[in-house]
Amino acid sequence: MAVVFSNFDFHEVNENMLKKYLLAPGPTPVPESVLLEMAKPILHHRTDEFSSIFDSAAERLPKLFGTEGEVLMLAGSGTAAMEAAVVNTLSPGDHVLVVNAGKFGQRWRDICNVFGMTVSTIDLEWGESVKAEQIEEFIKENPDTKAVLLQGSETSTTACHPVKEIASVTSATDDTLLIVDGITSVGVYDTRMDEWGIDVLVTGSQKAFMLPPGLAFIALSDRAWARAENASIPRYYFDLRKERKTQQKSTTAYTPALTLIIGLNKVLDMLFEEGLENVYRRHQVNGDATRAAVKALGFEMLAKDNPSNAATGFYLPSELDGGAFVKFMREKVGVTYAGGQDHLKGRILRISTLGYHDVFDTITAVSALEMGLVRFGADIELGKGVSAAQNILKDYIG
Ligand SMILES: *Cc1c(COP(=O)(O)O)cnc(C)c1O
Repeated sequence: MAVVFSNFDFHEVNENMLKKYLLAPGPTPVPESVLLEMAKPILHHRTDEFSSIFDSAAERLPKLFGTEGEVLMLAGSGTAAMEAAVVNTLSPGDHVLVVNAGKFGQRWRDICNVFGMTVSTIDLEWGESVKAEQIEEFIKENPDTKAVLLQGSETSTTACHPVKEIASVTSATDDTLLIVDGITSVGVYDTRMDEWGIDVLVTGSQKAFMLPPGLAFIALSDRAWARAENASIPRYYFDLRKERKTQQKSTTAYTPALTLIIGLNKVLDMLFEEGLENVYRRHQVNGDATRAAVKALGFEMLAKDNPSNAATGFYLPSELDGGAFVKFMREKVGVTYAGGQDHLKGRILRISTLGYHDVFDTITAVSALEMGLVRFGADIELGKGVSAAQNILKDYIG
């Protein structure tokens, strides 16, 4: 694909009419009804009023995790729940296996290193998915493995890992926990923590939960709770034993991110009115349509075997300055995509289909992509991607 244009004069952009389309995999757009709910005057958190909102959210959250147990709410970004997972279930010197297949796999490795675990990794090319057999083999050779840590959906590469198959491996062991970062898989995929045998599952507010950043969620299996009793890392804010006892009494141990919990309650109204199976289907259809568009335009997908419905990543034409393209689209067109991280910086584009995202968000994403690329001199046929997306989405509207 020849790209001849790299430097051209931009039009004057009228800021008032530059509508903003947030199409990056987090933070994601927040629905108007949720924004309005969160704009109401702050209430006090040690009140029946707050506790009834908290209970309403706490009762419904576990359905998204597929657990009968409780899902705890923590004030913090998703990484807070990742750290809480590690400090509550592991001890220094514990041997752990991290699936290192992207930026967030690296984060599991880094957190475990900071707390003194002995970390083994399965290192994969970005875009690849681990195979359950690789995990099985590792555990067979290393029966002392205390935990396997991975992502349900590795947002940096837009690839999923086969969590259900891996859970069937770990749940058959006596003492190897499966700790899953579900930050872009919970709320995107039907996730069955109890049935599959996931031991720790975490997510955050600003992805599929269509809230601002700042709230993290974590659920533990019975055997993970048993570990929490003996784990030897000092912890205070993230002591989940204390948090669990308090949240069972309809409040949080410390001041909650109460505006976000009020928003969460509204989000859960929306998700359950839509029906969770429809929420998952919507992500599937928009993911299918985005992938079809990218392929129709002739781009190479980053995730080949197991692409995520949270976001679609693909390689940009090699002559194109990806960083400049992302900046142009955000600042001059109003469309925010995500570029690549680390060695993929400037080389890939990621388009989100996560959270408050409908059919015409996908059309906007693809249409703007085509027009922007043509402005950058790429040799593509306008409408080719849009048409491929429409062919999938037409059966879904109305
Ligand atoms: C966004 C994301 C994170 C990081 O969450 P923060 O909220 O930025 O702390 C971790 N893992 C995955 C898979 C993510 O998508």
